[in-house]
This record gives sequence, C-alpha cells and structure tokens, in this order.
Amino acid sequence: MGRGSGVIKFRSPVKDNPATDDGGGPSTHGFADTWAATIWPTGFVSMSLRETQLHLLNTTQRLVAALTDPTQTAQLGRSVGEELVDAHFTNPEALELSLSLIASRLLKDFAPQLRHINNAELRSRLGLLLGAIAAGFSTALRDVTFSEQEQIRRAGLLARETTERDLRGSEARFRAVFAGAAIGIAIADISGNILHFNPAMEQILGDSSEAHLFSSVAQFVDLDDAPELWSQYQRLVNGEQEQVQSEKRYVRPDGSVVWADMVISLVRDDNGHPRYLVVLVEDVSERRRLQTTLHHQALHDPLTGLPNRTLFFDRLRRLCNQHDSTKRIGLCYLDLDRFKAVNDSLGHHVGDKLLVELAERLARCTADAGHIVARMGGDEFVVLVEDCEGTRQLKLLAEQLLEALAAPFEIADHQLTVSASIGLVEHQAAGADPAELLKAADITLYWAKSEGNGGWALHESERRGRQVARYELSAAMPRALAHGEFLVEYQPLVRLRDSVTIGTEALVRWNHPVLGRLGPQHFIDLAEETGQIVPLGRWVFEQSCAQAALWSAEFGAQAPFVSINLAVRQLRDPGIVAELISIAQAYDVAPQQLQLELTESEIMGPSDEALERLRTLADAGFVIAIDDFGTGYSNLAYLRRLPVQALKLASSFVTGLQQDPNGDRVGEEIMKTLIHLSHILGLHVTAEGIETDEQARQLRDLGCDNGQGWLFAKPGPPETITEMLRPKT
Ligand code: C2E
Ligand code: MG
Ligand code: MG
Repeated sequence: MGRGSGVIKFRSPVKDNPATDDGGGPSTHGFADTWAATIWPTGFVSMSLRETQLHLLNTTQRLVAALTDPTQTAQLGRSVGEELVDAHFTNPEALELSLSLIASRLLKDFAPQLRHINNAELRSRLGLLLGAIAAGFSTALRDVTFSEQEQIRRAGLLARETTERDLRGSEARFRAVFAGAAIGIAIADISGNILHFNPAMEQILGDSSEAHLFSSVAQFVDLDDAPELWSQYQRLVNGEQEQVQSEKRYVRPDGSVVWADMVISLVRDDNGHPRYLVVLVEDVSERRRLQTTLHHQALHDPLTGLPNRTLFFDRLRRLCNQHDSTKRIGLCYLDLDRFKAVNDSLGHHVGDKLLVELAERLARCTADAGHIVARMGGDEFVVLVEDCEGTRQLKLLAEQLLEALAAPFEIADHQLTVSASIGLVEHQAAGADPAELLKAADITLYWAKSEGNGGWALHESERRGRQVARYELSAAMPRALAHGEFLVEYQPLVRLRDSVTIGTEALVRWNHPVLGRLGPQHFIDLAEETGQIVPLGRWVFEQSCAQAALWSAEFGAQAPFVSINLAVRQLRDPGIVAELISIAQAYDVAPQQLQLELTESEIMGPSDEALERLRTLADAGFVIAIDDFGTGYSNLAYLRRLPVQALKLASSFVTGLQQDPNGDRVGEEIMKTLIHLSHILGLHVTAEGIETDEQARQLRDLGCDNGQGWLFAKPGPPETITEMLRPKT
C-alpha cells in the first residue's frame, strides 16, 4: 500500500513559518508548500514541485475562505477536491494526505484569521469542509475515470473498426486479384488438398465442372514425367524448400494440350510452420508453340518441309556418339541428274515443284522403315539409315529410291522424267566422323555419276584409297619436278613407205621415289586438274627442244622432228606462244622441227583465245597434229577450220583393221576413207599402235603416211633413237 498507512509526517521543504497574514502571506505559503511537498510524490503530475506549490497557494486561500464563510464551506470544499483531481492528483493517497494535513494544521496555521469564530463552530465547519473535499474528489475522480474509460473504449472501438476495414480492404483486393488474374491460382492445405481455385485455373485446365478439376496439388506435379520434381515437392511439403517450379504439359478433359509454367509456393504461419500451398499456373502454350515453330523452321527446309542439313547432322552426330560397336549406319546420298536443265529450260517454279514432289516420293518411300530423309541443298537429298543391316539393305534401298523416281512427274502441264544418282556409304556408327561420312557419300555419288546417270555406287575404302593416293601424287608433283624425278622417253614415228624414222614422240614418265616408274596415265589427268601440267609441259617442251637440237647437230637434215603432247590447259595460258617460241629459239631449234599434238576432244572445246594461240603457233612454223583421232567426235569437216597439218589415228582403227572371220572388211574401208579424206584436207596421216607387220603392210597399202607402234619401237631413252638413226657400219 501507499504511504497513507501509519503515522503521517508532513515534510516542509519551505521553511515552516507560522503565518499571520490572510492572503498569500507567510502562513498561506507555509501551508501550501507543506501540502505540495506532501502530495507531490504521490502522483504522475505534469507540474513541477514549484508549480504545485503555486497552484496550492490559491487552493489554501479558498480553504481559509471556506471556514470563514459557512455558506461557502461545502461548495468550496468540493471544488478543492475536484481541483486535486484536475491537477492529476488522482491517487487516493493524495486525498488522504491532503485531508490529514488540513485536519491537523489548517485551524492552527490560520488561527489569527479565524479568531472571531468559536472553536466548536470551527470544528464543525472543518468537518464539513473535509467531507466536501472528499466528496468533490471522489465525484471528480469518478467522472475522470468514466471519461478515460470511455476514451479507451472509443479508442478500442476505433482500432477495431480500422483493423476490420483494413482487413476487409486487403481481402477485397485479394479476392479481386484471385478472381481476375490471368494466372491460374489454387490454394491448398499443407497436405495438398485444394481449397480454392480461381476462374483462370479452371480455364487453363479446361473444365469448370468440379469433377474434372484437380483435387490435390500432387496432380499438378505428376510424378511420371519428372521424378526430380516429385522429390522437390516432397521437400516443399516438409518445409525444407520454399518453392517448386517447372514447365508442365497438361491434357485437358477434351484431349487438348496446355503447356504451363507452374510454381508451387509454401505459405508459413506466424510461427514459421508450413500452413498452405499456393499453386500458380501460367498458360505458356502460345509461347511454346512459337518456340516450336521457330525450332521447326530452323531445322527444316522451307520448300519441301523435309529435315534440313542442320537436323541431319545433329542426328548423325548423335548416332556417331553412341558406344554400341555393333550398330551400323547407312547413308544414301542422292542427286538429280541434269536438274539444272529443268530449271534453265522450264523456269525455277517448275524446278521447285519438281523438288517438292520428289521430296514427297522419297519421304513416302522411306516412311515405313522410319528412315530420315533430309534435303541438303539444291537437288541433293540424303537418306539416313539408323540401324543399318548392311550393304545389301542399302543397295536395295537405293534401287527402291530410283524406282520411286522413275515414274514421270506431272508438273504444270509438263511430263518430266528424271533420274538420279546415289552414293551409298555403310559404316560402324560408334566413333565415326559425321563430316567424313558425308564426304565419303559425296565422293561415292560422284563415282555413281561418272559411271553413268541413273545409278548408284557403293563406297569402297580401297577406291577412296586410290583417290587419296592421287591427291598425294598431285601434292608431290612440284617437288618432283624440282628434284628431277621426271624424264622424257621417245618413240619413233616411221614413214611407212620406206620405214625411215622421220620423227619421234616425246612421252613423259615419273621416276617416283616410292612408287617406281609411273606412266603418264597416272599423273597427266591429275596435272591437268591441278594446273601442274603448265610447268610440267614447259619442262617436257624444253627437254624435247634440247634433244631436237642434239639430233639436229648430229644428223642435220635427216634429224627427226620431235612431236610433243600439249594439253589444252597449257593453251589457256596467254604467255604460252611467246614462251614456246623463245624456248625453241634458245635451243636454236626451228619450229618446223617441232610438232604439237592436241587430242581431238581438246581441240573441239577450247575458247576462241586458245584457238587463236594455236593459229599463232602454226603461223610461227610449228606443226599442229590432232592426236588420237577417232576417240572423240571425229569431225573431219571441222578440222578444216583449224590450223592442223597432221592427223594421228587412234590405235583402235589399227586394231579394227583385223579382218572379220566372215570376210567383213568394214574396218579397212573406214581406214581407207579416213586416209583419203585426210589427204583431201591436206593432212599427213600417222597410224598409232602398230604392233604387227601385217598392220604395217595394210596401212601402207591404204596410203597411210606414217606409223607409230611397238612394231618399230617402244618408247625409250633418246639414245636408242640416236643408235637407230646412226648409219650401220
Ligand atoms: P599418246 O599421245 O597417244 O601417246 C601414245 C601412247 O601410245 C603412249 O602411251 C605409247 O606408249 C602408247 N603406244 C605406242 N605404241 C603402242 C603400241 O603399239 N601398242 C600400244 N598398246 N600402245 C602403244 P603413254 O606413253 O602411256 O602415254 C599415254 C598418253 O599420255 C599419251 O597418249 C599422251 O596423251 C599423254 N602424254 C604423254 N606424255 C605427255 C606429255 O608430255 N604431255 C601431255 N600433255 N600428255 C602426255
Ligand atoms: Mg601423243
Ligand atoms: Mg596418241
């Protein structure tokens, strides 16, 4: 309890000086100060002690007035009690102390002012005053308490109202979001039982009837296609994870498919315990469709719709990366024959339509077996056989593909018959190099083409090996030339009339350090392809000039001319004319001593410039001869327009001279006509490949001028010719 119990002692901070005045005098001050010091510690008053003393000064005066005027006693007393409460001395202890102080000291301290009132009357008035103070205090205190309670109640009410309004507001907002969201929302308890769905969710999942809607969050997770997702979901439910996210495919009740971006989040209560699950589902079907379309476009040929090169390589690479060494793969590389002609003559739109229909036929042909057909570009297609059973299967497939293309295509009122060539490659899948496989298929396609259109060829590594060897030969040629690995042999050209050697043909050979002696059939074509024929031909020409000069020096007018083979490629070089002339001059050989042989097919094709160069050479005095006449177009009339002086008939004519068992002499007749016509055109005729006396005699009888062949001599070192020419002693 408070200090109100027991003996009450009044402290007096202000000097206790019994006052004799009646208004603010020392007695009033003394009383007010004591009073203030007594009650001040009991309350939580906003006034300081000093302010309290001043406040009670006035109150004290009213106390004295209350005793003095009996009509005012009750009213002033009540007002003093009320004042105490107003000044926040609401603690009952303050009242008790105040009453004690007044009862014990008031009459004494203010005795001088109250002198005129008798003692009994004073005591009676004091009693009344004390009662009035107590009554005023308690009434005021009750009022204050009531009003404070009311305020508290009102504040409480207001607070509740605000909270409820806020709650209603946030709930309304939540409802609006829940109902109007484009994203599907489901709220579930922690066991996964769904409590609420929003309309978007119903729309996304495709049915508003409750029966079809998911009843559990687990149905969103669907453990079949993503076991990892399922275990994440378990962790979420156990409170070990806050969120699970995945792109999922859902099948609606009507069978349509929706792709959704799904997020499941855990909601905890205030204590952090898992309470709810919230599922958000966004329909991403459209985005996915777009992605799929783009993906498809990137991997397919826009014209035919077939897989493109990228997709094909992708698939092939995957097959090559597997480890199963028993698995084999096959490639059918197909290319239309003369497709360019279709495009050029009928236009690209017809060409395009042809490709589309062709693609359809190819796809149909391979659909059952499940092979992939890809368009590699232009008119090139490839069929990928994933589990190849062997070359037999590939050959059969190639036949089927060719057959599928055999029936004419009906395109824009045109009936188009096409053929194609196919290169086949069969290989172990594991560890194969996709680029190498395709290169092999491409080379094999080339073989198929070169063997005639409309067929297929199977890749052989041996054949490839030969090609690699060819490649290596061509690479080695420049060094071989510099190292003197080439040499020239000479074969006599003999005048049939008297068997005199009037000329020799220079024939080049290659003494290869590893492969041994190589004839021109191994490297001349190659040298023409690579352009090496230009320096090689120049070297042969130079050797021939040197040899011609030697023979000239030894045999004078009887020296044989030297016939040198010239590839048309050499004629394409604008400097060729000046070069040949200057080399001949350098060796002091007259151009008339030199014959230049060009094959018939070569001379039919070249450009006007090349022909012009040939004319200039002829004008300079070189003898121009057509080599191997009869193996090409055999157009004698055309030769009239060329600066040609000699014709070398291919050895096939010589072989054809052979009389048939039934006495047929067609070969001889042809030869006779040819020689006759050549002579009319002013050409000297040399027959190649004479191997027997009989052939030599026949040709002489037919009027053929010269002959060349093993009968006279095989090609050999120049010394052999020199020996032959030297008069026998
Ligand atoms: P070609 O100009 O028609 O040369 C004649 C070929 O017939 C030579 O073959 C020769 O050895 C061969 N031959 C000669 N007599 C007979 C015979 O009685 N029977 C048979 N079966 N063959 C005979 P070779 O030396 O193998 O030359 C082949 C071809 O290489 C030449 O055909 C020529 O076109 C080309 N060639 C040779 N040397 C050169 C050269 O330096 N430059 C160019 N551009 N081509 C050359
Ligand atoms: Mg020749
Ligand atoms: Mg020849």
